[in-house]
Amino acid sequence: MNIAIAGVGLVGRVLALNLLQEGHTLTLFDEDQANGEKAAGMTAAGMLAAFAELETAESVIFKHGKRSIELWLPLLKSIGLEDAYQLEGSIITAHPQDYSELDHFIATLKSKVEEAKDIQLLDRTGIIALEPDLEQHNKAFYIPHEGQVDAQRFMQRSTEYLLNHQNVTWHQETKVDSVSEGAISFNNTTEKFDWVFDSRGLGANEQVKNLRGVRGEVLWLDAPEVNIKRPTRMLHPRYKIYIVPRQNNRYVIGATEIESEDRSEVSVRSSLELLSAVYSMHTGFAEARIVKMLTNCRPTLKDNLPNIEQGEKLTRINGLYRHGYLLAPAIVEKALNEGINT
Ligand SMILES: Cc1cc2nc3c(=O)[nH]c(=O)nc-3n(C[C@H](O)[C@H](O)[C@H](O)COP(=O)(O)OP(=O)(O)OC[C@H]3O[C@@H](n4cnc5c(N)ncnc54)[C@H](O)[C@@H]3O)c2cc1C
Repeated sequence: MNIAIAGVGLVGRVLALNLLQEGHTLTLFDEDQANGEKAAGMTAAGMLAAFAELETAESVIFKHGKRSIELWLPLLKSIGLEDAYQLEGSIITAHPQDYSELDHFIATLKSKVEEAKDIQLLDRTGIIALEPDLEQHNKAFYIPHEGQVDAQRFMQRSTEYLLNHQNVTWHQETKVDSVSEGAISFNNTTEKFDWVFDSRGLGANEQVKNLRGVRGEVLWLDAPEVNIKRPTRMLHPRYKIYIVPRQNNRYVIGATEIESEDRSEVSVRSSLELLSAVYSMHTGFAEARIVKMLTNCRPTLKDNLPNIEQGEKLTRINGLYRHGYLLAPAIVEKALNEGINT
């Protein structure tokens, strides 16, 4: 089929890779350059936290999250990037005065899905055995079957792969004005296709009802004195932070969650909260260098759940909110099975 994808952020890329495997010919449209700097998928920490997200999410997120965790590895392999996938579990901890919050968090997960029984309580010895750098903590929980995709490496490699693929035409810096059944309108023209996908995230707000942005801020730190291997969260009554390790002692610290579509720079308040929390987790962050401070908005629907809308020769996928990496492969699989592959 001759297929078009409007919006080549996270969902658009996962779609494109799947459709190429099925032998289709693709025309991609994005208002950004191919490097994807503006996509939320480029700002994301890439955590695959099917369990931890259950604190506020519904169990459908867990179901799709589990499926995506299975699908990510073959997808990354297909572009030679399997080392960007890590599934060695994650850690959740808190300061002693917040242990009740920590216990409540874990109890909530256990009340929602049976598999959460595998979450392990760690004392100081258990913490040191798994993550020696967290030795100043006396209590934590270990969640197996969680991990991360190195989001930025995925975005970069998928750019190279798609740009070099003979069945792909990529219209960069091309704003799509509307996506309708079998047609994409841009630059005062309308092009017809056998099937079209609308994966413009927040950019689809004129055609997708009740879509809003939820602002998120992250800091990137170079911390040679810190050696944390797994995604680690710290609970606190006012804010929840996570530390996601990347290659070469680099860490993504995030993320704020603010009901706003403001994409301006990181605020003083957010950076103070994130940095003081991270320093209180590990004093080795004191001499870390702040290499990047980024803001983006998560495309979110009224119920905070992902949505697939199928039409004649048309599929729209949106609302992946704070779960894009956790959900994209499973949501794309579902959309293709309900749509062009029916
Ligand atoms: C700070 C932060 C941290 C996050 N951390 C995580 C995490 O740890 N784990 C997780 O699972 N998820 C995380 N997410 C969520 C994840 O990034 C999003 O759910 C995901 O990126 C949504 O994918 P998308 O493809 O719908 O949107 P995007 O990735 O934003 O892609 C949309 C694309 O459409 C293009 N576009 C928009 N309008 C137009 C137009 N009119 N014409 C042409 N192109 C257009 C944009 O340029 C962009 O490339 C995080 C998000 C943020 C902001």
